This record gives sequence, structure tokens and C-alpha cells, in this order.
Amino acid sequence: MLEIKNLTLRYGHHLALEDVSLTVAQGETVVLLGANGAGKSSLLKSVGRLVQPAGGDILLGDASLLPLPAHEIVNRGIAIVPENRGIFRAMTVEENLRLGANPARARTNEALMRGEIFALFPRLAERRQQLVRTMSGGEQQMVAIARALMSRPDYLLLDEPSLGLAPIVTQELFAALDRIRQTGLAMLIVEQNVKATLTLANRGYVLEAGRIIGSGTSEQLATDPLVQKAFLGSA
Ligand code: ATP
Repeated sequence: MLEIKNLTLRYGHHLALEDVSLTVAQGETVVLLGANGAGKSSLLKSVGRLVQPAGGDILLGDASLLPLPAHEIVNRGIAIVPENRGIFRAMTVEENLRLGANPARARTNEALMRGEIFALFPRLAERRQQLVRTMSGGEQQMVAIARALMSRPDYLLLDEPSLGLAPIVTQELFAALDRIRQTGLAMLIVEQNVKATLTLANRGYVLEAGRIIGSGTSEQLATDPLVQKAFLGSA
């Protein structure tokens, strides 16, 4: 289980996360909802060891991730797809995937993994030699996810994967996420596309101004007046 425990993060005097606790069990899909600036990216950056929390802990099983450097996180089975996608646009799809297979845990069976990933993303299989910068936003997002999957993670953390994508492309992306979910991989998804994510996720949390203000199953969240008002555009 991935566990975020009483996490506090400050940027100077600004308190970005305050006493945040959440869990993602193996095989589970969890959504983190929150308005712009709520602290969602900061939470993923904390797990990725890109920022240093002021308090609390991040545990994988019984082991704290806080003493580890950023590059070690992926070796422990946690892959993060950042909001800026973290891909190399001057390289081809296949080259990006090869770089994603860098951690020791991924080097064996690289070809097999690539085959499995191309089965999840048939559109990338057709375009394996294409330069990423010539691809559409949705295709680039798929490259970013495919690259993260090449590290053979147990937990996939996604920061607003549908940001900037057209509705039809978003639909295709969520279909791919659903196929990934069915492989048994655990996911934590930060999203503004609340309806689609709640359909995909088992449960979720609501973050507001750095604090968790609600949590529940996807059904509970979808009918929660607070969630409906803030994210689903109804009173
Ligand atoms: P968005 O959806 O807009 O990306 P978010 O929920 O991911 O928002 P964060 O990016 O985590 O929010 O930011 C949380 C708060 O921390 C915001 O008020 C933001 O301005 C602030 N913040 C983020 N990064 C830094 C930084 N490096 N230095 C100072 N303040 C920061």
C-alpha cells in the first residue's frame, strides 16, 4: 500500500499541504479532486521526492520514501506522469519508451513490455518511429503514460492527464486508463475531469487549500452536494 500520512509542505511561508493523509492500495484506482492551487501537484511532487515535506511521512508498505532520492522512487515501483508530461519531444515514440525502461526493475523483458504497451495504445504502435513533437496533445499524453509504464510500476500517479485535450481525445485517454486499470495496476489520478475520473475510480479524496475536506467511494463523491457544486456544475 502507498500511504501518505499527515503530510505538511511549505513553500516559504505558504502552507501548500496541511496534515494530508490518503492511501492507495494495490490494484486500486483513486482520484484526487481539487480546484486550481489546491495542492494536488504538490502532493504528487512530494511522492516523487521533488519537494521536501516539512512534516509527516510517505510510506510504501512499511518503508518510508522520504530518505530516498528522486531516482530511487521509480525503482521502488512508483511511476509519476507529471502535468508537463515529462517526455522528450525531439525523440521518437520508441526512443522515449526505451528511456522509460531505464530502472533496473524494467530492463528484463523490455521487448515484452513494449509489446504489451503497444497493445494498450495501438495508436502508438502505428507511430513508433514518429517524433513526439509532431504528435497531437493526446498522443503525447499517451507517450508519457506509456513511458511511465515501461518502468513496470506497481503504482501509476497521473497529474491531470486530460488537461488541454479535446473531448474526443479525452474519451480515448480514459478508455486507455481503463485498460490499464484492468491489468491490476494501482493508480492515483489528479483530475479536473471529475465525471470521467469518478467513473473510472474506486474512491477518492477532495483537497481544498492544502487540506483533505472529503473522501468516499466514487458513488458517494458523485452524489455529494459539495462535489456536485464545486466540480460537476450543479447545485
Ligand atoms: P493546479 O491544478 O493549478 O496545478 P494544484 O492543485 O496542483 O493546482 P499546486 O501546484 O500543488 O496546486 O500548488 C499549491 C499551492 O502552492 C499554490 O498556491 C501554488 O501557488 C503554490 N506553489 C506551488 N509550487 C510552488 C513553488 N515552487 N513555490 C511557491 N509556491 C508554490
